[in-house]
Amino acid sequence: MNPPIPTPYSADFRSMSNTSSDSWSLDDARELYGIHQWGLGYFDIDDNGNVVASPQMAEGASVEIRAVIEEARSRGLTPPLLIRFQDILRHRVESINGAFRKAIEEQGYRNTYRGVFPVKVNHLREVVEELKAAGQRFDFGLEVGSKPELFAVMALQDELNDLIICNGYKDSKFIHMALMGTKLGKKVIIVVEKIEELHQVVAISRQVGVDPSIGIRVRLQSKSQGIWAESGGEHAKFGLSLNDLLAATDYLEKEGLKHCLNLIHFHIGSQVPDIQAVKRAVQEGARFFAKISKMGFGLEIVDVGGGLGIDYDGSQTACESSTNYTLQEYANDVVYAIMSVCDQEEVKHPVIVSESGRALVAHHSVLIIEVFGTTSKLGYHPAVEADKDDHEFIREMLHIRENMARLNLSEAYHDAEKFRVDAQTLFTLGHLSLKDRAKIDQLYWEISSGVVERLGDEEFIPEDLAELKGNLGDQYLCNFSVFQSLLDHWALGQLFPVMPITRHLEKPERETTLVDITCDSDGHIDKFIDIRDVKNTLPLHNLRSKEGKKDRYHLGFFLMGAYQDIMGDLHNLFGKANEVHIFLDPDEPAGYYIEEIIEGSTISAVLDSVQYDEKDLRRQMKKQVERAIREDRLKPSEGMRLLQTFDTGLKEYTYLTF
Ligand code: PLP
Repeated sequence: MNPPIPTPYSADFRSMSNTSSDSWSLDDARELYGIHQWGLGYFDIDDNGNVVASPQMAEGASVEIRAVIEEARSRGLTPPLLIRFQDILRHRVESINGAFRKAIEEQGYRNTYRGVFPVKVNHLREVVEELKAAGQRFDFGLEVGSKPELFAVMALQDELNDLIICNGYKDSKFIHMALMGTKLGKKVIIVVEKIEELHQVVAISRQVGVDPSIGIRVRLQSKSQGIWAESGGEHAKFGLSLNDLLAATDYLEKEGLKHCLNLIHFHIGSQVPDIQAVKRAVQEGARFFAKISKMGFGLEIVDVGGGLGIDYDGSQTACESSTNYTLQEYANDVVYAIMSVCDQEEVKHPVIVSESGRALVAHHSVLIIEVFGTTSKLGYHPAVEADKDDHEFIREMLHIRENMARLNLSEAYHDAEKFRVDAQTLFTLGHLSLKDRAKIDQLYWEISSGVVERLGDEEFIPEDLAELKGNLGDQYLCNFSVFQSLLDHWALGQLFPVMPITRHLEKPERETTLVDITCDSDGHIDKFIDIRDVKNTLPLHNLRSKEGKKDRYHLGFFLMGAYQDIMGDLHNLFGKANEVHIFLDPDEPAGYYIEEIIEGSTISAVLDSVQYDEKDLRRQMKKQVERAIREDRLKPSEGMRLLQTFDTGLKEYTYLTF
């Protein structure tokens, strides 16, 4: 029998590459996963090869993520597990405010910066409260875009002059509640998204007897690039066109309410990758501010919206998953653009508000998932051997395999592909045996693997061969749902950094793609961050077992704190993940403690959300068990056990438990 051919994806290649683990260093691991690039100082690998979080960067303790997973397990919380580092939230608030303060001071800007957090980016009360507490000394405010958000924020913003910015489409009840906020002494600014809203605001404010504080969202010509570019430009969903803007100013003048127009707002989209787009938009928006100010309106604030991006892939480029600027550069450019326009137009420098969401919260949470199995294209089957009765396709493919070194790689692959397709047709028509088809399939993967091995790290790889590399990767089966925990990856192709939590002293031997546990072929990940490009596979370690028991192998998805929490859906009824919140505390032996545990959804909770009442389900099961006992299909004791298992099962986690 032939020995298996060692290829990058075969068992033998794996053990061969193990030997080169000797020359593997922690810096190789850091570079492979780019942790120093996207981690921004919040994440690193320690000397034992474990990933650690440093929520206050060099100032505070480092938290070994593996230890948090173990502690969560000891409290009954298994992965998928979301770990929130509350101190990162505080650090982000301080960083953003610090950057704007520095820019204002250095450039001699004659007004202040006040940030607001758009709560839609992460609604969790503990997150919003943490940001609010950290932002108190910076007069930090909150932004809402719906009635539920307004109701929550009205209660949370409980001090005089607390800033609330109301964006999004509004009805009379929304406007009424916002005006009640003004009556309570908060600084509530109602940003008008369409002209009819303005008429409503004025009418309702007269009914309740309060002067409204009004903002206008202008539709800029300037646009961003990337996944969220459609929020800007003339076809944007929100904001007033030029004609509507003039109609709005005329209307306010006629109504004697020029003093109520306090803010000009614009937003060109989330995750703006290119600083030039930021500069263009702020310049254009500031010009609106200056021109309208000169018309005698009571403008005080320029609100530059969100969009401050995150370098998810660490490349520091203007590609979708990155940004070609730093936080400080962003703050410098926003301040400079507003100041230069206002100086030129000779109007007072306004208060600068930004609505950065992603940049505040993305870093604070890490999703931990457990790998529970693998599937491999080549498996561990021995290489195909020639046989005298072989079908001619098999003989041809064996010839390709044996002569790979001399052949043109594309041609070899395309020929193998053709034989495989033709073999499928012959098999369907009944002209090829199952055994021959299996041999042809195996040969196809052997040839493909050889092609990929010979391609190595060549600069230019034809598209179909590059795709082949991804197709050859082993599938790592992961206990989570892409649709619940990584919705932006599924819907928009957004990339998040992902890496193993442990074992970085060992070289990862396998090229993998990740699949989730939903019954949906879209529930997989085969695009990964890379400094130069997007990778089709993720290098991971072999799963190990000790004394017949599999070692746990955890992956972390990083920078998960923005948008993913709330957008996840219940596909296959996989619910919310378990959650722990970490606080640093120098008095604790480990330097931190788990401050809060939020248990993920139970089976009965997700069933309830689709109208299955827990009591009804129990009653229906009981009826069936009683009948089965009467008809002698179950013993009474078996029936009682079954009911008990059903009952306890309803209270359990929706994900797999191992
Ligand atoms: N403000 C508005 C009006 C938005 O629509 C958004 C999100 O798209 C944001 C702020 C937050 O944007 P980011 O999270 O990119 O800072």
